[in-house]
Amino acid sequence: MTNEAWGKLREELIKRVGRNNYATWIEPIRLAELRGPLARFEVPTTFFGDWVSRNFSDHILHELNAAGREVARLEFFVPSSGAVRMPRQAATPAKPLPKLSQRRAANDDDLPGASLDARFTFDSFVVGKPNELAHAAARRVAEGGPVTFNPLFLYGGVGLGKTHLMHAIAHELQARQPEMRVLYLSAEQFMYRFVQALRDKQIMDFKEIFRSVDVLMVDDVQFIAGKDSTQEEFFHTFNALVDQNKQIIISADRAPGEIKDLEERIKSRLQCGLVVDLHPTDYELRLGILQQKAEFYRQQYPGLHIAGGVLDFLAHRITTNVRVLEGALTRLFAFASLVGREITLELAQDCLADILRASDRKLTIEEIQRKVAEHYNIRLSDMIGPKRLRNIARPRQVAMYLAKQLTPRSLPEIGRRFGGRDHTTIMHGVKKIEELMATDSQLSDDLNLLKRLLQG
Ligand code: ADP
Ligand code: MG
Repeated sequence: MTNEAWGKLREELIKRVGRNNYATWIEPIRLAELRGPLARFEVPTTFFGDWVSRNFSDHILHELNAAGREVARLEFFVPSSGAVRMPRQAATPAKPLPKLSQRRAANDDDLPGASLDARFTFDSFVVGKPNELAHAAARRVAEGGPVTFNPLFLYGGVGLGKTHLMHAIAHELQARQPEMRVLYLSAEQFMYRFVQALRDKQIMDFKEIFRSVDVLMVDDVQFIAGKDSTQEEFFHTFNALVDQNKQIIISADRAPGEIKDLEERIKSRLQCGLVVDLHPTDYELRLGILQQKAEFYRQQYPGLHIAGGVLDFLAHRITTNVRVLEGALTRLFAFASLVGREITLELAQDCLADILRASDRKLTIEEIQRKVAEHYNIRLSDMIGPKRLRNIARPRQVAMYLAKQLTPRSLPEIGRRFGGRDHTTIMHGVKKIEELMATDSQLSDDLNLLKRLLQG
């Protein structure tokens, strides 16, 4: 299909999306390629592509298929001459491992790492109570002095700034010591490259490259849990670097001890350094982040006014994570500048209705039961069933305790959701867990993890 043909077809979309949307979002995109079930479109910015993808994909697919094209998937991309370079997605295929002979010394261009996001610096990182320790530790490592703790292990829920801090460390180290070989990549990429090296019989090169860096950063290490040979290789790489006193920085969505299917010896090595967590954001931190980003946007969209109270409102209402918070602000500014209006509370409520609704979502007892069952490897049906075996009854009590703690439900209501149990049974369960928590550190670790996962 040519772009002209697409041009005709896309006019059909006016009926489906309306004139305004059509002019704003559909007209500017260009069909770049139609290959089998995949249609690729050029968009001016990543935000633009996200928006079109989220809001108009179904309509576009419908029209393409109505015109006899069996398209199943749409992709939106910013042409490479575009100004913004976005972080590479974890799933992008790896570039082939460079042969040793092709490697240049003292430059990380040849390292098989992921590219760094230029926006993730210490300057742009807002520090608050929930992340001050992690930030301080990252700063220390970024000084590049003698290695004092190895590894630095950063953990916390999604969107709390782990990747941002790691990139910031890398930027800082490169700025201070350009000759330093800093390698940053996700655990997924590590695995990908390892598998590739095995396949291409380049495992010696692989080992050599990873052992030749000065600083190794592996993001989202929980990914390699359960992947045995990758874990094994990771363990050896890790040890080799620690032996040479090279700094290692690791991130994960939970503490080392909490990562299931990770070998014990790896867990204990990961715990040897400094383990710090990023706590869920609090109101002040969210407001601080919003103010900083708003300042940035004010420069991008001069003349756009933001009414008092809007940032405050967002900081109160969007409590999930920073990524969502940022997304909301991006959308708000883009929208306001498109329609040429001041950003008011009303506009925010309108434009962000879906995000606000999702943030309001309350945790349900059923979700708690599901998570707990998953954590303890029991069936969901056993949560509400009659079995009294300890390995079933204890998780059930954990779920009762969490239901009491994390939801506003009364004991009789909780009882009903646990297969019609009496409220005294629930009370007993809650008490039992409270007692055990004081002495059983495994149990209290479990509870902390579950709480974090549920409130994430
Ligand atoms: P994680 O890796 O923990 O899932 P990211 O580091 O990717 O989270 O952060 C998600 C988004 O939120 C990024 O755009 C990041 O810049 C931003 N962010 C998170 N924490 C902060 C912070 N304290 N200050 C400024 N931006 C932040
Ligand atoms: Mg991350």
